[in-house]
Amino acid sequence: MASIGVLAYQGSVAEHMKMLSRIEGVSPREIRFPEDIGAVSGVILPGGESTTMGKLIKDYGLIDALKERITKSMPVWGTCAGMILLAKEITGEDITYLNVMDIAVRRNAYGGQLDSFTADCNIPEVSSHKIPLVFIRAPWVEKTWGNVKILARIDGRIIAVQQGNILATSFHPELTEDMSFHNYFAGMVKQADMQ
Ligand code: GLN
Repeated sequence: MASIGVLAYQGSVAEHMKMLSRIEGVSPREIRFPEDIGAVSGVILPGGESTTMGKLIKDYGLIDALKERITKSMPVWGTCAGMILLAKEITGEDITYLNVMDIAVRRNAYGGQLDSFTADCNIPEVSSHKIPLVFIRAPWVEKTWGNVKILARIDGRIIAVQQGNILATSFHPELTEDMSFHNYFAGMVKQADMQ
């Protein structure tokens, strides 16, 4: 069984737990405290509010434990606010959180009428069918460096990236019925478990 943790302070926690519970060979688990990290072999950082989640991972002392596991190659996937937590740069802000992924992100990048919207996209690495995408006050990736692989763009904007064990999406697969990204991430965790 691959045990996958979902950071469970706020945001789309229940939705991720539900998606994970549908995958064979995966046991989902909510994580909040540093001692929870030892029990999982992969972590999802959900959508929500990055400033709140970022403050809480610091307050609960989870930030160092998480960062250490990620740098030792534990798979991690950030959706929306979770992507912001992973970034090494947040455009126009001095702050960073986990600071592990070679991307610069712009928060609330789709202002005004495009604040929240849906789209769909072919992402061949992840699925052979079109994946429905839900954006809610989403960030986009402004810049990548290092060995970051761009998985998807919408209207020229980068919205899905992977750097080895680190996966990040601007959108919320957990708010759709499409299992592609959850299956893809579970595959990363199962593979890491075998190594
Ligand atoms: N706008 C939020 C932030 O900057 C992210 C929104 C989301 O996760 N849906 O943290």
